[in-house]
Amino acid sequence: MFRPSFLNPVMFRRFLIAAVVLSSLSACSIRNSGNEHRSDQHPLSQIVEVKDLSAAIEQAKALPLRSTLVVFDIDDTLLTATEFFGSDKWYDWQRGRALSPNGQPLAIAEADKVSCLFDTLGITYEIATNRPTQDNMASLVNQVNNDLLMLTARSGNYRAATMRELSRNGLGFSDKALTPKDVGYHYNFTHDGRSANMSYVDGVFMVQGMDKGVLLLDLLSRVGRTYDAVVFVDDKTHNIDNMANALKKAGINFYGFQYLKIDKTVSLEEVTQAQAAASDLTKLLNLHFDERAELIKNDMCAY
Ligand SMILES: [Mg+2]
Repeated sequence: MFRPSFLNPVMFRRFLIAAVVLSSLSACSIRNSGNEHRSDQHPLSQIVEVKDLSAAIEQAKALPLRSTLVVFDIDDTLLTATEFFGSDKWYDWQRGRALSPNGQPLAIAEADKVSCLFDTLGITYEIATNRPTQDNMASLVNQVNNDLLMLTARSGNYRAATMRELSRNGLGFSDKALTPKDVGYHYNFTHDGRSANMSYVDGVFMVQGMDKGVLLLDLLSRVGRTYDAVVFVDDKTHNIDNMANALKKAGINFYGFQYLKIDKTVSLEEVTQAQAAASDLTKLLNLHFDERAELIKNDMCAY
């Protein structure tokens, strides 16, 4: 049975290592831990690394329907970019957080950083398509009958393109959302000295890079919902950690699944592709959209 208590980062890392070993032994390493030992002071908190979304779906099915909320990240969890330019790992590369295929940090040259990163990201979201992270993604997600939430670090400025690609990939779940179809939330939120605009509409919560755990609890209190358990699937360690910490403080059982199917490393070929794409985008803007080109060139960013 998994029932760790993450009292400090060292214990947490040890558990993650154990989870990797277990998940390598079994394609679906998670087991229903049950609530028999739960106390309000020590909610259940478990994290498993998986390469198949079905583990999380099975976990959700094993828990009580009405009192369990299921939460999915979008990028590199349900959907992934078809091109490197504008992808989640391209963004990480732009921010200097990428790894090369040999696992070493991959620095980015100053010349490879685009002007107005978030404007460029918005342009690529509009142009690009996403594909499912695994062939049966939509059928798995659509099996979930619980209340369901998409929780993305993307900004609400990118909602139109995000909703388009979710729909095109077979995902629509306003019927499982936390608010009626015609009700949404748009509000400014400040946490750890940073403010950003939150957007929750039709089951998709866009938190602009803020702490997903803190923001989930805030949204639940705004909509007046409570749950005994949350099943959360995300590809990024810090999002899983943040959710674990927030739910632990709130006394909510946490079933975390870190989805590691999508390769996050950046190859030199991809760097070359990104250089060409950035150069061609700049050419297009200069030739046909010169006012926007000037704004972007001068760091007068819209987003
Ligand atoms: Mg992600």
